[in-house]
Amino acid sequence: METDTIAAISTPLGEGGIAVIRVSGPDAIAIADKIYQGKVKLSDVPTHTVHYGHIVHPETGERVDEVLVTVMRAPRTFTREDVVEISCHGGMVPVQATLEALLLSGARLAEPGEFTKRAFLNGRIDLSQAEAVIDLIRAKTDQAAKMAIQQAEGRLSRMIRRLRNDIVETLAHLAVNVDYPEYDAEELTSQFLEKRCKEILQEIDRLLQTARQGRILREGIATVIVGRPNVGKSSLMNTLTQENKAIVTDIPGTTRDVIEEYVNVRGIPLRLLDTAGIRETEDVVERIGVERSRQALAQADLVLLVLNHAEPLTDDDRKLIRLLKDYTKVVIVNKVDLPKKIDLDEVRSLIGDAPLITTSIKEEKGIDQLEEAIARLFYLGKMEIADQTYVSNTRHIHLLNQARQSVQEVLSGIEAGMPLDMVEIDLKNAWQYLGEVIGEAVAEDLIDQIFSQFCLGK
Ligand code: GDP
Ligand code: ZN
Repeated sequence: METDTIAAISTPLGEGGIAVIRVSGPDAIAIADKIYQGKVKLSDVPTHTVHYGHIVHPETGERVDEVLVTVMRAPRTFTREDVVEISCHGGMVPVQATLEALLLSGARLAEPGEFTKRAFLNGRIDLSQAEAVIDLIRAKTDQAAKMAIQQAEGRLSRMIRRLRNDIVETLAHLAVNVDYPEYDAEELTSQFLEKRCKEILQEIDRLLQTARQGRILREGIATVIVGRPNVGKSSLMNTLTQENKAIVTDIPGTTRDVIEEYVNVRGIPLRLLDTAGIRETEDVVERIGVERSRQALAQADLVLLVLNHAEPLTDDDRKLIRLLKDYTKVVIVNKVDLPKKIDLDEVRSLIGDAPLITTSIKEEKGIDQLEEAIARLFYLGKMEIADQTYVSNTRHIHLLNQARQSVQEVLSGIEAGMPLDMVEIDLKNAWQYLGEVIGEAVAEDLIDQIFSQFCLGK
């Protein structure tokens, strides 16, 4: 038996909403108790049980994170030692802080593969099993990661090259017209250019969309619940968090400063944002200027708009619907258990193609349909996440946005009837930005050379 107690983060950082820290060794439970604040003392609980609580920093006494702690006593554990697993909210800061709290309280940072080594030394697994586990861990952490990155980059490069080819062809048509106006190239009309540019724009948007999906995979879908006071926002929030086992506070009615809560709706990670702010700001429409709510909305991937079935639609409701015009949203008409006063036809006419769900949160009706609507909205995106996350790099996102902007300028140039050689510059810029993504930025004079050859050879 080893004598010391080791700790390490056992899930990849930054993936999903939850990170797990594993502690193993004779003092695992005692050490965890030093930093755990909850209704129980971990040393008293039965083995293989889970407990809600907070991690408190041993020096500052500050609350570090809301957690679920699993206590597993030897020998029925992976290492055959006492094991404590702490599920944190995730995100770099609280996880690192929790690990730090453990290390300050007597645990030692585990070496790579050390949990497996202990399992082997304690007779839990044989050497080949140990090696297999270590290989797997290694493969998971570096090779697999590298391969995934290479593949993603390979696909991104191919897509960028194709896009740049499209631009070159378009430029070639353009150059023929600019250099040899008398030649009057056949289909070179601004309509042709416009059509091509719109296609290019679509492609760039598709790439940028994958960046959004990558973020969603890492961080969860940023979700904001809005609606007039008293429509049932807090009730909805509670229902979503309870049904989906989010880590929530156990002190009802206390003011707390929750910035975000994670829930898992049909396999889709939702990050409910800035709920405290929204809850305090009861009159959302009037006080939408409140910086926090605004920020929450600005970050939102998904908005849940709650309306009241038992009251006629108000101007505030209409204002809110207009404000949310361009958001991905689900419209929830709550309190169907009460007599109908709302005009659902008007609601439908205002909300476009957003799904409309009627609920009674009080009587727990319509929640399934709501969850299904949320899942359906993201179903396609979710299915494609694993396969389609080409763009994750901030520099790439920035360059793609610049390329997008340039193509947009081509389009507005055409619309404004600008001369073609002016438009040409913007298109070349787009080509250049895309080139920078794959490290093929080419000097301006070389570009000219390429295109002059292209035209003369024609
Ligand atoms: P918020 O101000 O939008 O956050 O609304 P709350 O969630 O605080 O709810 C306001 C009141 O409406 C509370 O008394 C809830 O119990 C009640 N409420 C919420 N949902 C329903 C529902 O579906 N039916 C009925 N009859 N009452 C509800
Ligand atoms: Zn409320």
